[in-house]
Amino acid sequence: MNWKLEKFFKASPVVWVPMWGISKLRKRAGSFAGEVPGDALWFDEWYDRAMSRDNVGKLAGLGVNMVVLPFSLGASAEAERRERDDFMRVTRYLHEFNVMSLPYLQYQNVLQEENVPGGTVWAESLTRERLGYSYWRRTACQSSKGFKDYFKSLIADAVKRGSDGIWIDNTYLYPCRCELCRADFVEYLKNNHSYLLNELYLRDFEGIEIPPNLDAVGDPVVQAFIEFNFDRNIRIQSELKEYMESLKADAVYGSNPALYRGRCSKDIGVDFYRLMKLNDIMYYENKFYPQEKNGQLSGNFHGFIAGDSLGTPGIPGAWKKEDFDAVSGKSSCGLPDAGGCEKTLLEAVVFGGITGAFWAVRAVPEQLCGKAEDQLKMYFELPEIYDTMKETLGYLKKLPVFGKRVNKAEIAVLYHRASSILKFEVHQASLHGIEELLLSSSIPYNTLFSEEMAEKISGFKLLIVPDARVLSDKEALIIGKFTENGGSVLILGQECGRYDERLKLRLDSALKELSGVSVFDKLAAPHFQACGKGAVAVMPTGNVYGEAYVNMMSAKSGTMLRPDYLENPSSVLNAVNQLLPEPEVRIAAEKKLGVSWALIEGRMVLQMLAYTESKEDARVKVYIAKGKTPADASLYRDAAPVTQIRGEPDGRYTVFEISVSRHAAMVFES
Ligand SMILES: [Zn+2]
Repeated sequence: MNWKLEKFFKASPVVWVPMWGISKLRKRAGSFAGEVPGDALWFDEWYDRAMSRDNVGKLAGLGVNMVVLPFSLGASAEAERRERDDFMRVTRYLHEFNVMSLPYLQYQNVLQEENVPGGTVWAESLTRERLGYSYWRRTACQSSKGFKDYFKSLIADAVKRGSDGIWIDNTYLYPCRCELCRADFVEYLKNNHSYLLNELYLRDFEGIEIPPNLDAVGDPVVQAFIEFNFDRNIRIQSELKEYMESLKADAVYGSNPALYRGRCSKDIGVDFYRLMKLNDIMYYENKFYPQEKNGQLSGNFHGFIAGDSLGTPGIPGAWKKEDFDAVSGKSSCGLPDAGGCEKTLLEAVVFGGITGAFWAVRAVPEQLCGKAEDQLKMYFELPEIYDTMKETLGYLKKLPVFGKRVNKAEIAVLYHRASSILKFEVHQASLHGIEELLLSSSIPYNTLFSEEMAEKISGFKLLIVPDARVLSDKEALIIGKFTENGGSVLILGQECGRYDERLKLRLDSALKELSGVSVFDKLAAPHFQACGKGAVAVMPTGNVYGEAYVNMMSAKSGTMLRPDYLENPSSVLNAVNQLLPEPEVRIAAEKKLGVSWALIEGRMVLQMLAYTESKEDARVKVYIAKGKTPADASLYRDAAPVTQIRGEPDGRYTVFEISVSRHAAMVFES
């Protein structure tokens, strides 16, 4: 966890509630953000109740200690005075209860009928359309001085009014072809890509065309433009963050760049690793609600684990079962029921995220109101939701699983930068599927980012390379060295490494020597080969895809489908077992349990979470390699008192038999 959060929260659980959806903007947009009664005559009354000291006290009483309040949706300080005054008043209540207060700021739009900051240039899409959410919310080119100065004035005003940081919504950055960005791109090419002059037979870059879309990723100018846009976003946000820290050094920077939606980040200017590193907390606004659906496990564990490995805790944004706003035209209530609230609160905790209740300050859906006055309540005030939050957050508070945390999984799944930009759909479908398979098989894993591969690879015993078709020679060497030193590698798809880092086609895979498998081999079964002190296995692919992953919010149709090798999970799990025959932790459970294995504040902790609807007890056998932990553990379970358990020796393992309904934590004192 980063130092700013440690300073504010120490080793207690962080529990957030966003209240931005209740902005008075809803009066014009109606119920745009879902379950906010913007169209109702009693909206003001409902808003005042949400923004009352009484409401703050009730949330804090449940354990909520981070709140995002309405502050600015893009109007001027004058027009937003009431909202910002309210921010200041409610921030005082929040601080009374030791709750962190963050203002909601909007990166994409200004309300241009009222506010056009001086020096603003309007953003222009690659197809020359104006950018914006609606005819009255327009996107200013974020690179323009007018927008940046305006944004800094928001930050300064929020800090002056008592904020503990800032929360920026929609921090992706669409590629822009305005005159300003075009000139910046030419400058960028001169400074970073001068070799392209020779390669592309150009005299200079002055006449360079901005590409009409980013699909032709083999074009070196498209590649350069993608990198330019990544850089642009990082530069703007670094400037904003530095400005914020110059006013308040320990202010928290959190944002929502629309991650984990099945959409290629190149199209939205999101350089995943660098943006994660820039943020202190990261919000995952998607549909990965924790549940079992179509035999798959959906959840935000993907992002929690990745965020934890990068020191930027993730926050769950999936809050509705079916959809999270009215953009899709769906009007049915998708607010989670009590069981859904419980799972969402627990999932983040298991995987090192920040937990939260997105649903808390929303309207009560009509079908759940017994009388007219019920409509003035907040969703969390419904007795069954309130009781669940009280019980679950009360349980969390007793768990010794917060504070300094290191994921001790022996398996790393590779997040490969170039593959995720240049061969996104192949890499992402493989990555998503293997993470889900490991989780649903109760196998703890961690993520390894290609940006950190050289330094961190030796910390793992097994590296899984999920169909990374784009690999540099240097990366292939690092993987080879890893096996020489005793590491094992599972390659998903024999076409890994078919392209170099600029998408130039190789004669054969960069991993051919290592794996003994050519791109042209027609493998019928997984191929195993000893390498150095380690081993390598290749799962073949015929590039045939199966069913779609569930809850994938923004995937293009016909993408994010399960690759053929994952249609036969037992053969992949068999390969994992062969490559890592004696894992530190092994779980045999009657139901699917997601598992994490971590060193937290000096104690080894094994956590388990059932994603199923049912809370029926399941028998679980936990095998832990002898010598890794003591034979005694404290067992924490929801709806049960803490007990001491003792494992029995069984060969190389100590075996613990327990039962798990929703959540369990085994805590080993060192
Ligand atoms: Zn621009």
